Amino acid sequence: MIEMADIGFLRTGIKSECLGCEACAQICAHGALKMVTDKEGFRYPEFNKDLCVNCGLCNMVCPEEVSVPKYTERQIAFGGYSKDERIRCLSTSGGAFSCIVDTWFKEGYVIFGAVASGLDVYHTCVFDKKDIDSFRKSKYSQSRIGSSYKDVRKFLREGRNVLFSGTPCQIAGLRNFLKIGKTDITRLLTVEVVCEGVPSPLYVEKLDRYLKDHYGSSISSLDYRFKDGKYDYEGHDKSVLRKGRWDFQVMQIILGNGKELRKDRWFNPFWSIWLNHLMNRPSCYNCPFTTKDRVADITLGDLWGVHRYCPELYGENGGASVIVSNTEKGNEILSEVYKVMYGHELDLKDVISYQGPMRRCIPENPARAEFMEELENPDISIQKINEKWAKKPSLKLLFSKYIWGNRQKVRFWKFRNKITGK
Ligand SMILES: Cc1cc2nc3c(=O)[nH]c(=O)nc-3n(C[C@H](O)[C@H](O)[C@H](O)COP(=O)(O)OP(=O)(O)OC[C@H]3O[C@@H](n4cnc5c(N)ncnc54)[C@H](O)[C@@H]3O)c2cc1C
Repeated sequence: MIEMADIGFLRTGIKSECLGCEACAQICAHGALKMVTDKEGFRYPEFNKDLCVNCGLCNMVCPEEVSVPKYTERQIAFGGYSKDERIRCLSTSGGAFSCIVDTWFKEGYVIFGAVASGLDVYHTCVFDKKDIDSFRKSKYSQSRIGSSYKDVRKFLREGRNVLFSGTPCQIAGLRNFLKIGKTDITRLLTVEVVCEGVPSPLYVEKLDRYLKDHYGSSISSLDYRFKDGKYDYEGHDKSVLRKGRWDFQVMQIILGNGKELRKDRWFNPFWSIWLNHLMNRPSCYNCPFTTKDRVADITLGDLWGVHRYCPELYGENGGASVIVSNTEKGNEILSEVYKVMYGHELDLKDVISYQGPMRRCIPENPARAEFMEELENPDISIQKINEKWAKKPSLKLLFSKYIWGNRQKVRFWKFRNKITGK
């Protein structure tokens, strides 16, 4: 017999065994599990024994307990960017997500994705493709699922077409959730982002406190991947055509008083600390989804390595996406997406060689515990954290990014390909 709330994490207390997908909390009809935030800022289910009826459903939906079959059909990889410059400018990479939405069902659909309100990130749905603006842009924080899985089930049972986008662990949580009650998933399209893991939200919260003290105003919007393009955040045409800066991963913060702050990736402590694997959710260091085979119909990512194996898709640094379709359903969508994107098929091997999260999970930094302790400490300021933990860019790195950067490399590779007739 299954014991009460016998899920890995609740049984063992080992945090790396909880992905934070929230499937257990949603399947429990008795409110015995609710998500609560721990001191590192990550959410975990909390168990109320008095409300538990011993049904064992929480165990059955947990992707750590019941693994979700991965799709191993023939995968097709595509690289490119939206033909609509506005969409491309307002998206993280090449606007692949918007192009998929665009070519998907024309009516009777619901679209789920992650939105941000200030520093809060959560899942919600829209019923009109025109309303997907807030889904665009990667929010580097684990989104709260809320009632989204239950809503997906309700819409599927009503016969609607549902597109659900999220991280691979959220897709896995949803798929296990829908297995209970055998919901027909023929009308469901799942779209996942390639995921390097989710950072602790404590970092941006600490940064926010500093900005409030320093500038007298809190963060009103945070764009982790701002593009210096023709269109502003709301999509208004600024009528000044500038080059995009996709691969500079510029973070833009707009404060409540209107002040704008921007920092390139190489000078930004957030990117340095996060990508040094100091502040990921514990389960990200043991992520079961960092493989070539995937859990969603479609996988989306940045077209990293574009300057090496497909320089023609760099397109003045406005952003380029990689799309990998993993199922027949995904392949059907991809055949339509070709019409609204510039680009072409890629060799999956090339894609994977530049996509670490499709090969292996990130290693935990041995100093993580020390770092997190300092991040949690309210007496240690964000400046102290940055000074101690963020790496300063070396001259060699700055040379390779700003002088002999991708833009120059792309010119070189294009020229070389032209004369060698490639
Ligand atoms: C936490 C995270 C880590 C990532 N790591 C990598 C990586 O290592 N390598 C790589 O190539 N790409 C990574 N990506 C994906 C990449 O940033 C782009 O989302 C992808 O290239 C699609 O680009 P687009 O132009 O179609 O994007 P957009 O239109 O900007 O994509 C928006 C899509 O991302 C989803 N999304 C945004 N934020 C979240 C969130 N917090 N949780 C769940 N879903 C979210 C939205 O629901 C929507 O479907 C990551 C994304 C996230 C959110």
